[in-house]
Amino acid sequence: MIKKRDYVGRLAPSPTGLLHLGHARTFWIAAGRARTADGRLLLRNDDLDTARCRPEFIDAFQEDLRWLGLGWDESIFHQSERRDVYLGAMRQLHREGLIYPCHRSRKEVAAAASAPHEDGLNDEPLFPTAWRVAQEDVPAKLDEHLNINWRFRVPDGEHITFDDAAAGTQSAVAGRDFGDFLVWRKDGVPSYQLACAADDATMGITEVVRGADLIKSTFRQLLILRALGAVLPGYYHAPLLTNDSGERLAKRHDSLSLRALRDQGMTPDQIISRFEKSEW
Ligand code: GLU
Repeated sequence: MIKKRDYVGRLAPSPTGLLHLGHARTFWIAAGRARTADGRLLLRNDDLDTARCRPEFIDAFQEDLRWLGLGWDESIFHQSERRDVYLGAMRQLHREGLIYPCHRSRKEVAAAASAPHEDGLNDEPLFPTAWRVAQEDVPAKLDEHLNINWRFRVPDGEHITFDDAAAGTQSAVAGRDFGDFLVWRKDGVPSYQLACAADDATMGITEVVRGADLIKSTFRQLLILRALGAVLPGYYHAPLLTNDSGERLAKRHDSLSLRALRDQGMTPDQIISRFEKSEW
């Protein structure tokens, strides 16, 4: 049983655009859950995707979070400065024989992938198991092979289940609902799944609060966390906000960025009171 003050949550924005209402509501929920638990809340800047991340958005999300009244404990964690953490995780997965190098291009995978299982869970093509590299052919020295893609070998047929505090019990079958997934890219950068799991483990996160679009990622992250021997966090996947036409809010809907609402004269209290009344 977790002692209340031991709760550690996190806010993990990506600096690829301005925060919109959907992020704001998820972060408001995350901050509320940390406060109710009398716990800590950490801020992590998910800035590994150098092609899409821009430094001005790091300043912008901090300013927007403060404007909304959401604070965090300690200084900000930057994923781009945590390569050692990710390398440590990779070495452990490599030692345990759970990853292998992959020379197939994204295009090849998309063309060869089997049709996704019809339950809407697939968010990427299933990597063909015929392309798995046998354990005896995996290079013994990981550090000399960090300029290639690496994949996690999923336990085919295993049911992965977790109890989500918002969405209820979630379950998926490895190898059917999702296949071997990337943990490292040939440009020398960890995948989101690897970085997120390694961070949640080393930052001591006890509950992950994020948007429901990431439920599918959780199954993969749970496999990594288990392999790392980490204490598994709890999960709360907040339902996604949609606009009046039922479309998911995305950063390109600039009119719903916190910045735009603020420029239109909306106050933080007005925004939060609409969250509280579930009007947004
Ligand atoms: N940085 C990710 C995003 O903005 C969220 C990652 C997470 O919460 O695990 O979509």
